[in-house]
Formats: sequence, C-alpha cells, structure tokens
Amino acid sequence: MTEVVFPNEAGALLQMRAAALLRETGVAIEQLGAIKPAALRKRVELRLATDLESRRQDLRKLLDGGGGPLSDGAWNKLHRLRTELDALFEETLALMEGAALRKAGLDGGCLLADRLADEISVLTPENWNAFTVLDTDEFYAGSTRVIRVRFPADSFWDLPVVAHEFGHFVGTTLTVMRRGKEVLALEEELADAGSPDHRSWLHESFADVFATYVIGPAYGLSCAFERFNPVAADKDDDHPAPNTRLALIEGVLAAYADGHPHDGYDRMISRIHDVWAAQTTEAGVHGTIGLREPFGRWLAFSLGLLRAALPLAAYDGWWRTTVLAKQLGDGERVDDVTKWSLRDIVNAAWLARTVAPGGEATDRIAQRAHALAELRCLEVRDVRHPK
Ligand SMILES: [Zn+2]
Repeated sequence: MTEVVFPNEAGALLQMRAAALLRETGVAIEQLGAIKPAALRKRVELRLATDLESRRQDLRKLLDGGGGPLSDGAWNKLHRLRTELDALFEETLALMEGAALRKAGLDGGCLLADRLADEISVLTPENWNAFTVLDTDEFYAGSTRVIRVRFPADSFWDLPVVAHEFGHFVGTTLTVMRRGKEVLALEEELADAGSPDHRSWLHESFADVFATYVIGPAYGLSCAFERFNPVAADKDDDHPAPNTRLALIEGVLAAYADGHPHDGYDRMISRIHDVWAAQTTEAGVHGTIGLREPFGRWLAFSLGLLRAALPLAAYDGWWRTTVLAKQLGDGERVDDVTKWSLRDIVNAAWLARTVAPGGEATDRIAQRAHALAELRCLEVRDVRHPK
C-alpha cells in the first residue's frame, strides 16, 4: 500500500487551498462575461467583477507569503475569503441561471419587477446593480442581491413583493450614528436576537416594514388578498405567522394614517382586516391579526431605523392615486404617463381593485395597469441605471 505523504512545510496545505480558490475565482470572473442578454449582464458585471477581483488580489497576497512560516491569522483570512467568495459564486450562478431563463422568454413580470426594484434602489444609498430572477418562490438567500420572483411571474398583483425582497438586501446595509459611531443597526439587532428562529423572523419583519414603508398600502393589500395563506394564519415557520405579519404592515400604515388629514390609509387598514378575516373565517381558522412580543419591539425598531436612515423613502403618493385608480377602473385614457411612478401605478391598481365588482373587472384593471406600467418604463428610460 502506498503511503500518503502530506507536504510538511509550514503553510503548504493552506497554500494548496488558496491556489484552488484562486483558480475558482478566475473561472467565476470569466463566466460573468457569458451572461446574456447583454442588457442584463451590464446590470451586474462591473459590481461582481470588482468584488471577485478584490478577493483574487487578497488570495494572491496570501500566496505571496511563500512556503515560509505561516503569517498571523492566515487560516482565518482564508476562511473569510472562502465565505465571501462562496456567497459571490452563489450569486453569480443564480444570475447566470436567471438570465438564461429570461433569455428563453420565461420572464413574465420580471422586467417590471426590475424597474420597480430600480425605483426603490434610488431611494436608498445602496445601488442595487442586479436583476430579478425566476424561482419556485420568493425567498432571501442571505448576503446576495438576488431578488427571486415566483415563477410564472405573470401577475401584476404580485409586484409589491419585490419591495419585501429588496428590504432583505438593503436592511443590513443601513447605518445610523450611535455614540458618535456609524453602526449597522439591523446587524446589531440581529446579533442580539437570540435564537436562529428569532433572527429569521426579525429579518422577515424588517422586510415587511420596509416594503410597507416604501410601497404603501399596495403591499398590505397584496399580502391579504393574494400572498398570505389563510389556512396557516396563526402558524410561524421560517416566516412569522401571517396574522403577525399583517399586524406589522398595519402598524406602519397606522403610523402614517395618524399624521395625515386624509382617511385613505385608515380605510385600507380596514380593507386589509376585513378581507383577511373573511378568508380565515371561511377556512375555519381562529385567531386574528395581532402583534405579540418581540414583534411589537421589532416594528418600533424597524420603523425607527427607516425614518433615521431613509427619511425620504416613505411612499407618500397614495393621496394622489385616486384619480389614476378611477381611470384604471373605468378604462379611461391616461394622458401623461410620465407623471406617475411605478409605485403610483401599483397602488392605483390596488385601490381600483378594492372597489372592483368582481373577477373580470379585476383582470381588466390588471391588464390596463400592466400596459400603463410598461408604457411608463418605455417613456422614462433613465431609471434603469439611476446611479
Ligand atoms: Zn422575506
């Protein structure tokens, strides 16, 4: 039997691993160039290539240590680079797969989802520089910018969920000043959250609060009418129970209803409540929308963070969307589409739906709103790469 001989110079095993990781990084950089179509590649290439290249340089520095004694913390440095590169590889692969599906014509609502995410991105200090990809469900994969849109993604009514997914990405980048120091507030809160369940629920709670903050009532309406499952109204899993999530959403809307003379938000809170209660009653599920701890505390924390870090990002267009909602409901011509943001169109469609007489009218509103949103994207091109 042949005896296996390990290299016995100090650091040689570490160097073999670093060299392998260096080769993998080179392959990932090369593959970025293969993302097609070019319009999607341009959204991500520079950012990902820069992130990968900076880790490649760090790996080269680690290797330049030569076969001599191990430098201080070399294994920890390699571990950090491995973790960061794994996240970048995962993101690169998800974007390559997503681009291939979209190139094959399966993009459904992805174009509008990209543009809505762009519109939200300009409200934040962090440039998104990515595109949405199709998947079996919307979910947050952690530390990447990939926003997954649920296949087949052909419903206009699903669009507000993009804001929730964006919230996962942007939340951990928001800073506030504490004791004279800039701190990542959500990261700090997550570190104090305790169990893995609590960390996951805090992340989801923040994303719900963020989505309601930047999109307004349309997010809560889409959750109550379409997204949340009434049969599981009281069940926590990787997300908090729908009854809790709707309470968070209503909490944000109530905070804005308070300071405004218009009663539009109050009416939408009632609508969310009523439509959800009707479904849970029919499904034979007891329990109602309500906040329990620590969700009440997390609502206050998330809203406080958003008001401090993104004071101008709160959606305030609801008060003018009544005109557009009527036009969408009645099928009237909309003259100047450029004066409406995508967030306005999404909210106007949802407002029109809350008074629509039934399924056919709802479908017509979705078709009109979709066409209007696409026209708006054609006429206002500068939003694609806002920064
Ligand atoms: Zn989520």
